[in-house]
Amino acid sequence: MVGKLIIGVDLGGTQIRAALADGEGSILRRTSCLTLAEEGLEPVIGRIKGAIYEVMGSTERGQVQGIGVVAPGPLDPWKGVIMDAPNLPGWKNVPLKDLMEEEFGLPVFVGNDANLAALAEQRFGAGQGVSDLIYITVSTGIGGGIIADNRLLLGAQGLAGEVGHQTIEAHGPRCNCGNIGCLEALAAGPAIARTARELIKTGIGTAIADLVGGDLDKITAREVNQAAQAGDPVAIELFRQAGFYIGIGIVNLLHLFNSSLIVIGGGVAKAGDLLFEPIRATVRERAMASYYWEHTPIVPATLGDDVALLGAVALVLLRNTTTNWE
Ligand SMILES: [Zn+2]
Repeated sequence: MVGKLIIGVDLGGTQIRAALADGEGSILRRTSCLTLAEEGLEPVIGRIKGAIYEVMGSTERGQVQGIGVVAPGPLDPWKGVIMDAPNLPGWKNVPLKDLMEEEFGLPVFVGNDANLAALAEQRFGAGQGVSDLIYITVSTGIGGGIIADNRLLLGAQGLAGEVGHQTIEAHGPRCNCGNIGCLEALAAGPAIARTARELIKTGIGTAIADLVGGDLDKITAREVNQAAQAGDPVAIELFRQAGFYIGIGIVNLLHLFNSSLIVIGGGVAKAGDLLFEPIRATVRERAMASYYWEHTPIVPATLGDDVALLGAVALVLLRNTTTNWE
């Protein structure tokens, strides 16, 4: 009989987190440490192993059905190879699945962070029982995961779901990916902060400038949110604008996938209705027919900071019960 417990690992640019969980997504034990990515590949691999051993504790291996690892993409979700991780120097074509299976003698599955967040929200969060949902995370970047017909869409190379890199403004700002006018370049946290700085430089008065003591380089989406929650009209307008662009992105997605739920997480989503209302208004206005949105709620993610760990757990549960990925 397969073990009931699952180990989830969240490999991030700043932190490595690991948890031992049960099949219902309850976390029984957890640990975290700094990634210290600048030290290079080997020490980071060592820290991942250490974190897994720590949460495993004295648990017998037979009790564990597998290890899931959430990693920043791009990666090969079948072979479990990290092709290139922008925040992890030295990580090129790293066979993480093989390395961990060799160490632990347990099945190991690796997936992209935003893709697995979609799985987590579907299994344990806002999207339970929903077979067609799109998860969008809006933070320093915009990522996503698409579940269509109850399957996580991976694409031919496992690179599907890059909802933040759809072109929204053909002649818009340059994106981190090199393209122009991507949703991420228009509505992620850094874009909101950049627009705030530009407005302040034109002489417009806003509480955002006061929050950073006039040092405009210190502005992030967090300060803009703080000002917006206190009623600052410029900050509110910045979220309205970001919501407008995200809304257009969602309209594109609804036309392509006819989803029945949109779940939005990430730090920028903490702005709440100031972001969600303009998103919903734009979707209502721009979708080509009401049946694309009238049965499709656009809701906040519910799993918070545990979404990545629970995504890793959900991946193991999925891979152990389906042959979709074989
Ligand atoms: Zn882009």
